[in-house]
Amino acid sequence: MDAAIEKSLKELCTVFLKENAMINLSAFRTEEACWVGNILDSLAFQDLELSPSPPTSALASLGSTVGKPAPSLKILDLGTGGGFPLLPLAIVNPEYKFTGMDATTKKIEAVKRIADAMHLTNIELIVGRAEDAGHDPKLREQFDVVLSRGVAEIATLLEYCAPFVKPKGHIVLWKSLHIAEELKNSMLARAELSSHLIKEHAYELPGNFGKRQLLVFEKASKLSGKYPRGNGEPKKNPLH
Ligand code: SAH
Repeated sequence: MDAAIEKSLKELCTVFLKENAMINLSAFRTEEACWVGNILDSLAFQDLELSPSPPTSALASLGSTVGKPAPSLKILDLGTGGGFPLLPLAIVNPEYKFTGMDATTKKIEAVKRIADAMHLTNIELIVGRAEDAGHDPKLREQFDVVLSRGVAEIATLLEYCAPFVKPKGHIVLWKSLHIAEELKNSMLARAELSSHLIKEHAYELPGNFGKRQLLVFEKASKLSGKYPRGNGEPKKNPLH
């Protein structure tokens, strides 16, 4: 890891732990637990090398990309809580534009204070519920990638996330390895929300954090306006 980036990530840990001591954002309360459980876990995303979803106009995709800088991605972290995976990924990918969303105002306020302390200029923050914000034309189908860690089961998460993703864009979910049942129960949600599982990326964290995985879904086409359903529905009544 680049030394300057590592220094920023260590500083993020320190700033985060100060906020965490004031309001409850995460169970990881020591530098070591925060470093592995929050920072390194978030950075597993870097292994995926996702590319931007193609432009909707065929003309816009013409022309050589040789010599041009790496394209920017628009990324949403849904249910960002205390700012993971949002904050570490915004530090290591300054060329990408990040949005963090959470239903809880005090968590978003804490993430704003952390982002300001870290002088991060590539992050926007929104207080909102996925079920409402997913119908907002300024957010609907606007993101290349939607991320979510520790928020809900897969069927519920696909209904939260898919409305924000551009067609051909991706959804990345942080999960444990023991999800056979959850995956089976997401078949209907995957079909209804045209979200196809394209990759299961397993990784291992040091110490007793152990093995985890990222699930990557590709959204094939635009969604029906009926998704997401109303407040609480995707969780109470998942598409099983
Ligand atoms: N991603 C963070 C936080 C996980 S806790 C981490 O991994 O540390 C789950 C978060 O999801 C909570 O902060 C909660 O407020 C948020 N959340 C749950 N349901 C939501 C919904 N429907 N819309 C927006 N945020 C939601």
